[in-house]
Amino acid sequence: MPLSTPHPTISQALINTHQRIDGACQLSMRSAKEVMLLAVSKTKPLGDVIEAYECGQRHFGENYLQDALEKIDHNPHSDIVWHFIGAIQSNKTKTIAAKFDWVHTLDRQKVALRLSQHRPSHLPPLNVLIQVNISNEANKSGVALDQLDALVEQVSQIPNLLLRGLMCIPAAGQTEQVQRDAFNKMTIARDQLQHSYPRIKELSMGMSGDLTNAIACGSTMVRIGTDIFGARSTSTP
Ligand SMILES: *Cc1c(COP(=O)(O)O)cnc(C)c1O
Repeated sequence: MPLSTPHPTISQALINTHQRIDGACQLSMRSAKEVMLLAVSKTKPLGDVIEAYECGQRHFGENYLQDALEKIDHNPHSDIVWHFIGAIQSNKTKTIAAKFDWVHTLDRQKVALRLSQHRPSHLPPLNVLIQVNISNEANKSGVALDQLDALVEQVSQIPNLLLRGLMCIPAAGQTEQVQRDAFNKMTIARDQLQHSYPRIKELSMGMSGDLTNAIACGSTMVRIGTDIFGARSTSTP
């Protein structure tokens, strides 16, 4: 989107995003109820979160812990569901385990053990998704597909965590077919795991640019930032 294009209001952008989700669901003959919209509010102010909340949005995704805490700690609405979708540094697991309801980016046992150890006992188990490095990119987060079964077996035995599914971010700049191949591999992996782990149901995949393909391939959670809140400045906080 060129910078000169004015971004619609958050309320209008949410309507547009739900229409895109509904359209993608219709195309693939799925029910729109199967796909949850996660509003990615990273780098955006709490005011934007509240505006989206007032339009009915409840699930919000954050990448950067400090940026997220400023919003989580000052947010007046107790029914917001916070999802951590950024890279997890192991020295941040205590705060993540205390402040978030979901973590999408689990990719190693050590972090799983720490999240479990730090999950406060008055809270329900932390919902976790295992991130898969589905495009086999060097230096990218996520477990390799051939290591997934072993990690699932480990994580599923850890208390205070509820393993709910898988997440991926396919390589950027690929053709639609390559993108779909990646998403389809995720769906196959999820389906295979479900035989032994019936609670593994979710597929967190699809962002502003590839939402339609992700839904066509079986996504159950799309993570949308730019299309709802507008472009972000390139610098991270
Ligand atoms: C930033 C981010 C998103 C949202 O991306 P948009 O292209 O702005 O919709 C989704 N998932 C993850 C992991 C992200 O870091």
